[in-house]
Amino acid sequence: MRFGAHVSSSGGISKAIDRGLAIGCESLQVFTHNPRTWVPIRHKPEEIAAFRAKAAAAGMGPLVSHGLYLINLGAPDREQPTGPPGKPATRMRNFYRSSVESLVQHLEIGEALGLEGVVLHVGSSRGDTLEGAVERIGAGIREALDRAPGACAVFLENTAGAGDTVGRTFEQLRMVADAAGGGPRVGFCLDTQHLFASGFPVHEPGGMDGVLEDFDRIVGIERLRCLHLNDSKVPFACNRDRHENVGDGEIGEDGMRNLLGCPALQGLPVVLEVPGDGDGPRAEDLARARALHAEALALRA
Ligand SMILES: [Zn+2]
Ligand SMILES: [Zn+2]
Repeated sequence: MRFGAHVSSSGGISKAIDRGLAIGCESLQVFTHNPRTWVPIRHKPEEIAAFRAKAAAAGMGPLVSHGLYLINLGAPDREQPTGPPGKPATRMRNFYRSSVESLVQHLEIGEALGLEGVVLHVGSSRGDTLEGAVERIGAGIREALDRAPGACAVFLENTAGAGDTVGRTFEQLRMVADAAGGGPRVGFCLDTQHLFASGFPVHEPGGMDGVLEDFDRIVGIERLRCLHLNDSKVPFACNRDRHENVGDGEIGEDGMRNLLGCPALQGLPVVLEVPGDGDGPRAEDLARARALHAEALALRA
């Protein structure tokens, strides 16, 4: 496993590598966009070059980004009223088209930075049928991959199962992969908190092994490209997305030992998206995850 974390890229994208190194990351996840606005950041060429040079010097990788939270490729393809949060709508936006444009931008900057993939929430149907949403998500990914050639892939993330989100079952993930053309640039990122909240027993002895056998049968294990390692603030199967520091939540240390030893996970980048003290993952969070991983392997030996 290549343990890493989601780190801030404020003050210039290359500072993310410094922050990752300071807490002991071997892999890394960053935002290449401000996650709460559609307006892309104009990364300076010297920042992009510095990001690549520092990552290479540190031997850090795989590197991934997380797509901005506004992207919803499942949204209906039509103009809808929009405005500032909590205020009356002031103008119209086609959220589907904005999402495709933003994904193209994410893939282009991802390619420039040498990222392996862009982690993306699959999307939500916003009241439309599941089939309609899956069709739009697939078409949107195909368009974005066509317009942004290169190696940088899309890694679709399973959801915690809230509301009308797509991607809470492996059958749904498979439908989306097929709709997206199923090529090598379509992969998946599984989040341990989202699995737990969706009712997958990842915390039980042998639980993750069974979950990944199902994933392999339904989706294909070669499509699993990244793991988000988060504990859960909320109980099993409650369909809510609330991350806790690894070992401190409802999955707990025993649950983490059960899942971290799973053979099918061993080659993956493992990204912590935990609160830390409120400022994100700390060195001690990575150290604890590594210690639990070592204990998990010893238990299986
Ligand atoms: Zn995640
Ligand atoms: Zn989450």
